[in-house]
Amino acid sequence: METITNSIYKIQQVRHLTNSTYIIRMERGGMEFVAGQNLNLGISGDVEKRDYSIYNGEKDDFLEVLVKEVEDGLVSKQMKSLKPGDKLEVDGPFGFFTLKPEDIDSKKYLFIASGTGVAPFHSIAQSHPNLNFKLIHGIRFSNEAYEKEHYPSGRYVSCVTKDDKGSFKGRVTDYLKANPVDKETLCYLCGNVNMIYDAFDVLKDQGVSSGNLHAEVYF
Ligand SMILES: Cc1cc2nc3c(=O)[nH]c(=O)nc-3n(C[C@H](O)[C@H](O)[C@H](O)COP(=O)(O)OP(=O)(O)OC[C@H]3O[C@@H](n4cnc5c(N)ncnc54)[C@H](O)[C@@H]3O)c2cc1C
Repeated sequence: METITNSIYKIQQVRHLTNSTYIIRMERGGMEFVAGQNLNLGISGDVEKRDYSIYNGEKDDFLEVLVKEVEDGLVSKQMKSLKPGDKLEVDGPFGFFTLKPEDIDSKKYLFIASGTGVAPFHSIAQSHPNLNFKLIHGIRFSNEAYEKEHYPSGRYVSCVTKDDKGSFKGRVTDYLKANPVDKETLCYLCGNVNMIYDAFDVLKDQGVSSGNLHAEVYF
């Protein structure tokens, strides 16, 4: 796989999905990646850089990242005001939060995300349109169900804690307890570390082996 380090990428578009969450689309620049990997990036000329999962599919001719502005955060706040034509310094791709090629056509997947932890699963779903998966997305408000229309019908479940407009009212762990998992399912979890540990406990109680559990911690 070709790795491009410390390259400058021009921004093509910024989509604001909520008051705090946005998608930056930049030129692809020939970068090869596997869905689930991340980039390390920051504003061109600035020393501060952070990790962001690649959001778009492997075959798209652009790169996208889904970013939530963190209160008191530095980079996520600065990048929110970027405009088309501005430049990012990008390193990568990095990481091993990817599907095994030999499993893709035969296995059943459960993806569990909190917040912007949905990003690698969006990339995976876009890259493998026939994948047998269910995505459970833990969010506070239903407007955080980022681009849910991009997922095949019936595969995306929002677990919403603060309003009644999601697919399920409650935390992802409540959903898992109410909808037990077949223990052969390959489970991938991404986002907040507390959500990941809590969901691990439920999945292990349901008989999922550690070998079938994979996680990417954001914070
Ligand atoms: C492998 C990996 C992939 C990541 N992918 C994404 C991604 O696709 N989208 C994305 O928005 N973020 C992602 N992150 C988090 C991202 O790297 C930054 O930590 C985040 O954008 C905050 O950076 P900042 O400079 O604004 O805040 P900082 O000034 O670095 O830190 C402020 C504080 O915010 C905490 N924090 C980080 N993220 C969150 C959050 N989402 N909600 C609440 N608190 C948070 C940090 O732990 C820290 O305590 C990823 C992290 C890792 C390790």
